[in-house]
Amino acid sequence: MTRAAFDAARRIVIKAGSSLVQAGPAVLAAMAADIAELRGRGASIVVVSSGAVALGRARLGLTRPVLSLEQKQAAAAAGQARLVTAWDEALAAHGLAAAQALLTLDVTEYRRSWLNARATLETLMELGAIPVVNENDTIATDEIRYGDNDRLAARVAQLVGADLLVLLSDIDGLYDRDPRQDPAARRIADIPVIDDTIRAMAGEANAAAAVGTGGMRTKILAAELAGRSGCATAIALGTAPRPVLSLARPDHGSWFHPARSAARAREAWIAGAASPSGEIRIDAGAAQALRAGKSLLPVGVTGVGGRFERGETVRIVGPDGITVGRGVCAYSAEDARRIAGCRSDEVEVRLGYRRASALVHVDDLVLDA
Ligand code: GLU
Repeated sequence: MTRAAFDAARRIVIKAGSSLVQAGPAVLAAMAADIAELRGRGASIVVVSSGAVALGRARLGLTRPVLSLEQKQAAAAAGQARLVTAWDEALAAHGLAAAQALLTLDVTEYRRSWLNARATLETLMELGAIPVVNENDTIATDEIRYGDNDRLAARVAQLVGADLLVLLSDIDGLYDRDPRQDPAARRIADIPVIDDTIRAMAGEANAAAAVGTGGMRTKILAAELAGRSGCATAIALGTAPRPVLSLARPDHGSWFHPARSAARAREAWIAGAASPSGEIRIDAGAAQALRAGKSLLPVGVTGVGGRFERGETVRIVGPDGITVGRGVCAYSAEDARRIAGCRSDEVEVRLGYRRASALVHVDDLVLDA
């Protein structure tokens, strides 16, 4: 893991905990500098930032240690404005714009919200902006809250198909014992599998090692969640001079390997998606192209059946009526019908907008055996 995985990461979700956001402009500036450098190397970045409640407490003079749910939500409303302004200023120093995205738990429960959130985050990344995600604390209630942004960050990593999730914390990784109590505690640099031994380290010895809402336990859970989608997770010290880039070195952070490769995870997801309601019929040339490892272009489409939204899985059927495979369609059924049979350069004219040239990208395709 470490260096090679770090250099290979094309899409990175970086989560910053409340204590880092509260620590002031220098800490944010260091994170922003790393984000700018990674973007310069061609990676796309999404930030998940906590700190709304913490910043809002101070702003509204809510000093009591325990707040009611309503007070926390009020604090979040006041603090979120400060939070996103602070990120915007830190990123602006590198010519980057912050874009606030507030999500609620139902984003991952309802397919439409999921697709909408994904499309917006994709567009922001295409435009070169840095999405700064937090939970929409103002409307989330205790029962429906993510509650901790480690889990939210793992969900966001799944949402955007990230290959690396970086959890920036006030500790530089997972230790076998609490390093604040026991100087002999050892950092675990590389974690190929999350098993009961690892979970026990987080649950007992390290439970209070990280001061955010989450602690180590939620970080391990986040790593498990992300790992199931083929995304690696690293825990690193957010106050280090190069908080994210330091992960390229073996003496920093803890790395969790993904449970399976991103390609396998995507394949399993496509194959396991609820029975597709939509169908795309293709000609013999297109069927041959797909079997040769190409994407499905509109020109090879002879018909579109059923109703589906962009981002839904469809069945792809050859001229003989036999299913060729399944794939995630980049267009809605309605738009797919309008461009069926079109050459790629005609697509924009038909639709009035330009998007992916492939109807189903090869990475979003699983062929039947
Ligand atoms: N959404 C909360 C906030 O911004 C943070 C939750 C957490 O600390 O994980 O204050």
